[in-house]
Amino acid sequence: MQDFIIIGGGILGMSTAMQLKKAYPERRMLLLEKESTPARHQTGHNSGVIHAGVYYTPGSLKARFCREGNRATREFCDAHDVPYEICGKLLVATNELEEQRMHKLQERISANDLEHEWLSREALREREPNITGIAGIFVPSSGIVDYAAVTRAMATEFERLGGEIRYGAEVTALDERREEVVVTTTQGEFTGRYLVTCAGLMADRVVRMLGQEPGFSICPFRGEYYQLPPEHNDIVKHLIYPIPDPAMPFLGVHLTRMIDGSVTVGPNAVLAFKREGYKKSDISLKDMAAMFTDSGIRKVLTKNLRPGLAEMKNSLHKKGYLELVRKYCPSLGLSDMKPYPAGVRAQAVTRDGKLADDFLFINTPRSLHVGNAPSPAATSSIPIGAHIVSQVKEQLGS
Ligand SMILES: Cc1cc2nc3c(=O)[nH]c(=O)nc-3n(C[C@H](O)[C@H](O)[C@H](O)COP(=O)(O)OP(=O)(O)OC[C@H]3O[C@@H](n4cnc5c(N)ncnc54)[C@H](O)[C@@H]3O)c2cc1C
Repeated sequence: MQDFIIIGGGILGMSTAMQLKKAYPERRMLLLEKESTPARHQTGHNSGVIHAGVYYTPGSLKARFCREGNRATREFCDAHDVPYEICGKLLVATNELEEQRMHKLQERISANDLEHEWLSREALREREPNITGIAGIFVPSSGIVDYAAVTRAMATEFERLGGEIRYGAEVTALDERREEVVVTTTQGEFTGRYLVTCAGLMADRVVRMLGQEPGFSICPFRGEYYQLPPEHNDIVKHLIYPIPDPAMPFLGVHLTRMIDGSVTVGPNAVLAFKREGYKKSDISLKDMAAMFTDSGIRKVLTKNLRPGLAEMKNSLHKKGYLELVRKYCPSLGLSDMKPYPAGVRAQAVTRDGKLADDFLFINTPRSLHVGNAPSPAATSSIPIGAHIVSQVKEQLGS
């Protein structure tokens, strides 16, 4: 019998497992992951940005955990020799509408108490000669890291403290009883006194395995990237972000310096026809049926039909995609857009057809589940893990 079972070997499962083991060093703990290595899904397919906390509603969990996570991620990387770089981020307005939106964004940046600097057209050009805009905001605390490397370091730490990890163990059924939770996997049955799940794109399905209705469904959005050829590795010194449309939940196609020295363009946000489906051609009839019969997801898709179709068009036509980045980096051409693996975001959609904005957790008497943890959840993984530990302590009364 385990004291704690954790499902999910992404950054949230590993961070939680590591911190639970630190909080309860004598207790037996087992982490179950269906893939053969950690970080195979969202955690290993993202932009690798250590966000500063620019966009999030002041007072929200996202705003709080992102700020704390920015600092905690750096400290963890320092302690565990994981390379990272605090290169700063530039938000770039390319027309008057974007400049107006950028003023609003500046109010939010101030409300979130982040150090920043407003840049004129000239100051922007001085900082980034290859970037064109009418104004910008510089946020110095944004950085870059390889989140798969962070997750591997967390896994090593969890095992060093005495935790056990089983890879290739897909959870297929859950049964919560009065004194225990029985977890059925492709490697047999395990029993634990308490269960934590961090299942990413499968978050809703795992809650449903307990016979509970989570109140949301996961809608998968593929984020497609391109990579610039190595001769453009120095094209920018900072992370370059457009000004997002406040009505849309994603940040827009950005130029991202990666920790390996390369530069990516992306990601966009297109509806994925398969959870954990990384190619355009990946289709799962089961996932599609679940999506299109879900009233909340149907409402979201209907409400966002126009921007959704525009994203799909640009996904199919590289030229359209290129124009999104040429708005602020006009020297790039079609031949600069090299293939790069996509990621798939797990976005929770509520029954009434809203994209869940904040991080979301669900409790049962013997379990706690991460429901919604989109970006900046990788940045926030340490505060999210700490939050889960404090919830567990409260629930167990010790
Ligand atoms: C394109 C993209 C760009 C992003 N950019 C950033 C960024 O720059 N900065 C940032 O902070 N965040 C970013 N994010 C968000 C961030 O990557 C995620 O929020 C974070 O990785 C979520 O971690 P997780 O552990 O919850 O999920 P995951 O990494 O998806 O892990 C979930 C794990 O659960 C396992 N699992 C699921 N079901 C089962 C089962 N039944 N049995 C056993 N195991 C199971 C899966 O195999 C998986 O390993 C981005 C995300 C995407 C997709």
